[in-house]
Amino acid sequence: MITGKNYIGNTLSAKGNTTYKTFNPKTNTANETVFTEATSEEIQEAVDLASEAFKIFRTISGTKKAAFLNTIADEILALDNTLVQTYMSETGLPEGRAKGERGRTIGQLRTFAKLVEEGSWVEARIDPAQPDRTPNPRVDLRKMSVPIGPIVVFGASNFPLAYSTAGGDTASALASGCPVVVKSHPMHAGTGELVASAIQKAAEKTGMPNGVFSNLNSSGIEVGQELVKHPKVKGVGFTGSIRGGRALLDLAAKRKEPIPVFAEMGSINPVVLLPKALETKAVSWAKTYASSITLGTGQFCTNPGLILGLKSDGLTNFIGTLAEEIVQIKPQCMLHPNIHAVYSNNKAKAQSQKNVETKATIDTAVAENYAQQTVATVDGKTFLENATLHEEVFGPFSLVVQCENVAELETILANLEGQLTGTIISEENEASNYNGVVKTLSDRVGRIIFNGVPTGVEVVPSMLHGGPYPASTDSRFTAVGRDSIKRWVRPFSYQDWPNELLPDELKNENPLNILRLVNDQETKEAL
Ligand code: NAP
Repeated sequence: MITGKNYIGNTLSAKGNTTYKTFNPKTNTANETVFTEATSEEIQEAVDLASEAFKIFRTISGTKKAAFLNTIADEILALDNTLVQTYMSETGLPEGRAKGERGRTIGQLRTFAKLVEEGSWVEARIDPAQPDRTPNPRVDLRKMSVPIGPIVVFGASNFPLAYSTAGGDTASALASGCPVVVKSHPMHAGTGELVASAIQKAAEKTGMPNGVFSNLNSSGIEVGQELVKHPKVKGVGFTGSIRGGRALLDLAAKRKEPIPVFAEMGSINPVVLLPKALETKAVSWAKTYASSITLGTGQFCTNPGLILGLKSDGLTNFIGTLAEEIVQIKPQCMLHPNIHAVYSNNKAKAQSQKNVETKATIDTAVAENYAQQTVATVDGKTFLENATLHEEVFGPFSLVVQCENVAELETILANLEGQLTGTIISEENEASNYNGVVKTLSDRVGRIIFNGVPTGVEVVPSMLHGGPYPASTDSRFTAVGRDSIKRWVRPFSYQDWPNELLPDELKNENPLNILRLVNDQETKEAL
């Protein structure tokens, strides 16, 4: 049952007076449950509990943490149709998407369970003492990753499950040994509470310390800001807009003790169409891109918002087909009236810029909160000079830039802000003639795609979901896949520490049988 209350550890609490409801964009009506925003007192309680829980949770074995994560997955599945229906009523997204995202969330939790149960992820390094070394003996040094402390997680509106309450940030932080306080997303507070109840049940069933997880409601930015400023909070995971992520990064930097903010933010995901590919396959690529631009009503951070090509018949052909195709696709509901309003405003702003030509748009009336997908074009010089055209329009909108020549294309790519992805569309053997373009694009993105679409993010160890700022606040890390656990740990060394006092990961006998680097050699052997 959804109560509308906050989870402060294992206690439901609603001390405040500020209340709000979620909204069903399909029916254009508010949902029933009244949610109560967390008060300063409740924020304090949640962070205090998390800080106390950390003292125990940081030492809990990988096997026990794995049981916790697997039980969260089981409890989310046990929510069954209640979760799916709530998700749909708070987002307007279809059942298939709800179930798919739930599957991804469960998969992420189980992946981290496997990782911490095996244990080698801590990157143990051991350099035993060399008492006979001359001229000076060498001390015994051993290093491994340790959790940094309570983490605040902000979820995105467009992924109520996979990037929210028990999404990638929460799963990776809990796996690392860090307690989590979630600042619930107001647009899917019911989905968030249901998932929070699953995490609480799992924590109790597997004997985790109270406060290992809390879920706080909020309808505005104040709760999140208070959490980021709290001295006992040691890190932040954020998925959302560049404006929101940047505000939190600045806030964290101003603290007496600055803390890391791992923000995954907006991106326009440039796609470069090479000329030969357009000579032969302009029509089929245009059809593929019409689908990618409108997938999930364009509400993906990997949506292809920017398409670049060299002026040619092939590019004209591509634009013509894209324009025809995009309006054949049935308009879809957006997540929320606010997102719809921001989409409409930003799109209109882009369309009204000098030299921007709208090539296709749904110009018939659509239901409330439904998007009218649009494709526009502009010349390379104008795009280069007008930073407004570089901004994300979150929703189904794409701008095709027609460049004069390769030099202009390269200059545009070199001047683009950091992006999550970049794509090259090429004929066989064509890309090798555009090394400068490929290299320049690679320098601006976290993931480069060959002959495909940027939408769709596989959860596998080789995925990099992040990129140079402002795609993310730290391009050295990924928000997706097992390596995302590295955001919540720091390396820690023991010097000449007695064997019996070392953590199991670093003991001579290697009781966990993990892979370690001993004297520069990878091994599972005991010392
Ligand atoms: P959002 O408006 O930035 O909101 C995200 C969360 O941050 C919300 O809980 C919001 O709270 C909070 N927030 C925003 N500004 C804040 C501030 N100044 N101080 C404190 N808290 C703040 O983003 P969204 O609309 O939910 O999601 C859409 C955006 O996310 C798009 O730009 C999309 O590209 C991006 N996204 C990125 C990824 C990725 O992995 N890179 C994935 C999905 C989405 P309130 O709602 O209470 O204001």
